[in-house]
Amino acid sequence: MAIEEHGASAGNFTTGQTTSTETEQFENTLRPKTFDDYIGQADVKRNLKVFVQAAKKREETLEHTVFYGPPGLGKTTLSMILAHEMNSQLRITSGPALEKPGDLAAILTNLKEGEFLFIDEIHRLRMPVEEILYSAMEDFAIDLVVGKGPSARTMRLDIPKFTLIGATTRFSMLAGPLRDRFGHVEKLRFYEAPEIQEILTRSAKILDIEIETSAAEKLSYCARRTPRIANRLLRRMRDFAEIQHEGVITDTVVEQGLKSLSIDEKGLDYSDQDYLKNLCEKFGGGPVGLSTMAAAMGEEENTIEEVIEPFLIMEGFIQKTPRGRIVTDLAWSHLGLKSPVTQNQNGGQTIML
Ligand code: ADP
Repeated sequence: MAIEEHGASAGNFTTGQTTSTETEQFENTLRPKTFDDYIGQADVKRNLKVFVQAAKKREETLEHTVFYGPPGLGKTTLSMILAHEMNSQLRITSGPALEKPGDLAAILTNLKEGEFLFIDEIHRLRMPVEEILYSAMEDFAIDLVVGKGPSARTMRLDIPKFTLIGATTRFSMLAGPLRDRFGHVEKLRFYEAPEIQEILTRSAKILDIEIETSAAEKLSYCARRTPRIANRLLRRMRDFAEIQHEGVITDTVVEQGLKSLSIDEKGLDYSDQDYLKNLCEKFGGGPVGLSTMAAAMGEEENTIEEVIEPFLIMEGFIQKTPRGRIVTDLAWSHLGLKSPVTQNQNGGQTIML
């Protein structure tokens, strides 16, 4: 299966997104190639296997599919597996990389029958570009405007039957007409610690890294339940192990390594801790609006909403309410701080505002 990329992806360690060609190469080395190698997400895999078998039996292309969930959970990997299982090719691009309708039209007209087009961050497509997709997905045709001014006319161009795979961290941001054109919508979930441990063990084997079972288990709790972060932590631990501990990743390597990377025992990294500290110390635990949090942390709203908060909500550290974000008792105790509510209860006083 060939993979072709249009446009670059950006990001950093905390967001779990791709940063450089070297990192991308590292990720590609570890990417599972088949459903059997792909760990976890059992429900999604079960569905997809049926869809693939059915499409193959009818000798049709697979229906357009959208994967959604936080970064690093395996959306791109699953898309590659789908193309592989359908004996086809995957072409990769992303919403922000497609600036003009012509950019997308050029890719669509160059596709071959049965190929897959993967659009990462599909919620960030510009509207004129997105509109090209509507007829492409539904009728396998695109409408091009030829000429300018009063003599301009529309020309319909047939394109090969293809499968669109959209990936997004924000499914709710997809416009209705686009959402409705996907035959399959699959949500990827955060992984359980044993699944992350399995991913770590698999990656260590591929990379020829020696890691003790107890060390892999310890690390599995500190990877924000995300395969991409697990693999990156493994790489960092290998560095610590090689320099300080003769190459083997032991419990001690993991403990010292995590400390050096400022990752705590719940797997919260610097950004998570910074978020909770801001919310507790500057805003008394909330409620606080997104833009205020972004300003307080000097972080982008998107990163807060799509990367930091989903994990903190799932782990029970914060809640989103109609009035804004609030921290839970778990967050107060995790930071070693006293919640104002608890203080009130202890003091036996209630402050009426
Ligand atoms: P996303 O597209 O959701 O941001 P990717 O598919 O790029 O995430 O996955 C990031 C990395 O995590 C890949 O390098 C891949 O090796 C690994 N990975 C993701 N999901 C799994 C999985 N279920 N089993 C094993 N490795 C996985």
